[in-house]
Amino acid sequence: MSDVKNKHDSSRAAVFLDRDGTLIVEKHYLSDPDAVSLETGVGEGLELLARLGHPLIVVSNQSGIGRGMFEARDAERVNDRVAELLRQRGVHIAGWYVCPHVPEDGCGCRKPEPGMALAAARDLDLALEGCFVIGDKRADLELADAIGGLGLLVSTGHGRECADWARAQSRPVFDDLGGAARFIAAAGAEDAPGAHSPPSASGAIR
Ligand SMILES: [Zn+2]
Repeated sequence: MSDVKNKHDSSRAAVFLDRDGTLIVEKHYLSDPDAVSLETGVGEGLELLARLGHPLIVVSNQSGIGRGMFEARDAERVNDRVAELLRQRGVHIAGWYVCPHVPEDGCGCRKPEPGMALAAARDLDLALEGCFVIGDKRADLELADAIGGLGLLVSTGHGRECADWARAQSRPVFDDLGGAARFIAAAGAEDAPGAHSPPSASGAIR
């Protein structure tokens, strides 16, 4: 076993997570913490990534704030509820980032713009190269492109609507976050120093 760290070691790569439709069941412009429920596969998937030491960061477009449909503090309350549900599974989210703007604002943080990921990299001292972004929208995958990461589409939330687009570009598509998490775990095992027989990720991509 070598002590030399692989330059592109993805065994502890940061994992950026979309919130609505990925971590929690998509509800149109959700602002009520009592309406929060975790999507399928999320508990197991994040437990796995947390156990492997991947920093987990939530990056969420919340244009409902900019549209005046709810307040920033409502979005925070929803985040707090998600954090609470994840804490019950022993999962800690290292950072929460919300873009409150509408597309017309032309801000630098609304996905696929990289502002939230760049802020997280600065705040948490993370490397973005080789990171992962899991989400149910094209903007999540394009965020990954923008920061040198790999985008993983989940079919929950709005994911089915862009699954064909993603597959046509040979982008990985999964049933849910659990599948995406297992893919990351397998990729990390392959990169881990001293790994001789990496588990195959084949079958994970549908
Ligand atoms: Zn923004």
